Amino acid sequence: MGKLDNKTAIITGGNSGIGFASAKRFLEEGAQVIITGRREDALKEAVAELGDGARYEVADVSKVAEISALAQRLNDQGITLDVVFANAGIAFFAPLAESTEEFFDNHFNTNVKGVFFTIQKLLPVINDNASIMINASIVAHKGFEGASVYSATKAAVINLAKTASRELVSRGIRVNVISPGPIETPIYSKIGMPEEDMDNFAKAMASQVPMQRFGTSDEVAGAALFLASSDSSYIIGDEIRVDGGFSTI
Ligand code: NAP
Repeated sequence: MGKLDNKTAIITGGNSGIGFASAKRFLEEGAQVIITGRREDALKEAVAELGDGARYEVADVSKVAEISALAQRLNDQGITLDVVFANAGIAFFAPLAESTEEFFDNHFNTNVKGVFFTIQKLLPVINDNASIMINASIVAHKGFEGASVYSATKAAVINLAKTASRELVSRGIRVNVISPGPIETPIYSKIGMPEEDMDNFAKAMASQVPMQRFGTSDEVAGAALFLASSDSSYIIGDEIRVDGGFSTI
């Protein structure tokens, strides 16, 4: 018996990295999984690899109209959700003094507005006793140079999990946060850093982690499965850090 038998899960940003690994894990545990993203070709490829039980929907989380349209499509098809993983996010780095309004808006539109309206617009198709998870980051608990905007977005959604939990607890809905440390995913290649600088950055970052390495998407997916399933039935408004001790010891 799987931990998510007869459950339907949606994962935003599910074509890549942590979202994709979580989709795989949820499928192995018996869920039907809908992955969303902004690039149909990438979603198609991901669903082909995920196999039976997986499907995709295109929705850019930075555009509220696209999230509303997604919710409407699910409603029209009679699909209701037991697990929502608001995972889609972007990360770019710039010193506070050089961060432009566009840079700020891009991050907040995806990482905060996207998460907020994913939860709000999907609510009519979210079942009672569902589990909602937000992918934040341990950057919210530390001060990294060049990460002021990204870190502020992640700090914002950590509180959202608490407030939303307070408002939704009467329906048995739990909202929790996963905060990864450095995890090896394509997010770093999207920064546009030259390969050599990226290698140096990765080595420097890993050396600061007590476990002396990056984590894997599978290790984050394990935490996502725990929060998605009834194994975490008395955990609400909380945060699990998956960071090899980076922010905890
Ligand atoms: P990733 O492989 O780049 O995955 C991010 C996913 O979000 C991709 O599918 C991406 O689509 C999607 N996405 C981005 N903007 C979107 C938008 N506007 N609408 C819909 N989908 C969008 O990176 P990841 O590391 O797995 O990141 C997943 C989450 O973990 C993010 O919220 C990130 O902040 C968080 N996180 C990651 C780390 C880490 O070290 N990797 C650490 C802490 C927190 P495309 O493929 O089209 O870009």
